[in-house]
Amino acid sequence: AKEAGRNQMILFDEELRAKRLAAARTVHRLREAITRDEFLVYFQPLVRLADERIIGVEALIRWQPAGESMVPPDRFIGIAEDSGLIVPIGAWVLRESCRVVSGWHRRHGTVVSVNVSPRQLREPDFGLLVLDVLRTSGLPPEALILEITEGVLVNSGKVTEQAISHLGMLRSHGIKVAIDDFGTGYSSLAYLRDLPIDNLKIDRSFMPTPGSPDPAAQTLIKTIIDLAAGLHLGTIAEGVETAEQVVLLRDLGCDRAQGFFYSRPVPEADAARLIQDSTTA
Ligand code: C2E
Ligand code: CA
Ligand code: CA
Ligand code: CA
Repeated sequence: AKEAGRNQMILFDEELRAKRLAAARTVHRLREAITRDEFLVYFQPLVRLADERIIGVEALIRWQPAGESMVPPDRFIGIAEDSGLIVPIGAWVLRESCRVVSGWHRRHGTVVSVNVSPRQLREPDFGLLVLDVLRTSGLPPEALILEITEGVLVNSGKVTEQAISHLGMLRSHGIKVAIDDFGTGYSSLAYLRDLPIDNLKIDRSFMPTPGSPDPAAQTLIKTIIDLAAGLHLGTIAEGVETAEQVVLLRDLGCDRAQGFFYSRPVPEADAARLIQDSTTA
């Protein structure tokens, strides 16, 4: 048994080493990807449930290494965060998204939601970066939503002052803030009252299972929507895949929705067409 234990330990050691090596390789390739311009932004439509028109988009990064298949964000965002590379990569996503959407905003009033990682909000210059991006892109502050996770604001029970001060400053300029994946973190409720936020994004794990009434899921969604309403926050449902889910969300008073039911994240040209069709229909 002792022998087996030792072998297990060696195996574990090797696994760990292999993992570290793979991560180090990814860091190296991400550095190259920045200089080679291998990132893209895809856009997923954000629909207003009252009339089902596209009123915005969420910007979602894609990595397309030359001659290889596209790498999904889940495979590199974590590594980019750990290595700090999310700072330049995230700044690029912000600039690119605001540049693209400023044109759509002029024509159709489209807003854009951009994911911001905790690491970015720890940078002393983050607030200035956002203001500079808005100035150069011409996108008005009211048309930008920053999506953050609960962990950004509340870290092991402690509110992160740097993040709060960035977001407070940006909100005083009119920029909106949304809590992403709401309901999947822990300590949120006590802080919701005082945090500088405008919207809750209901995590996709709360969507009722298609084809079943799923009363527990319905109760949870209703509770989140009522909570948001009581705090004067907007609600965005993510991961909406069926017409039944749309009906339920609208009945419960949810403001906006996004998901495969309306559209997958798509390249710029396709998003432009969807927005055009939606606003002239
Ligand atoms: P997220 O911010 O929660 O984004 C929503 C994810 O759900 C996207 O995955 C989207 O494609 C997917 N999704 C949308 N509608 C549906 C649906 O109806 N059903 C299902 N099953 N999935 C749906 P994606 O694009 O692979 O992004 C994964 C995560 O990577 C994002 O989750 C976000 O946390 C992160 N991410 C993406 N882009 C960025 C970025 O520019 N910066 C940072 N920091 N993180 C990013
Ligand atoms: Ca998001
Ligand atoms: Ca989310
Ligand atoms: Ca997520």
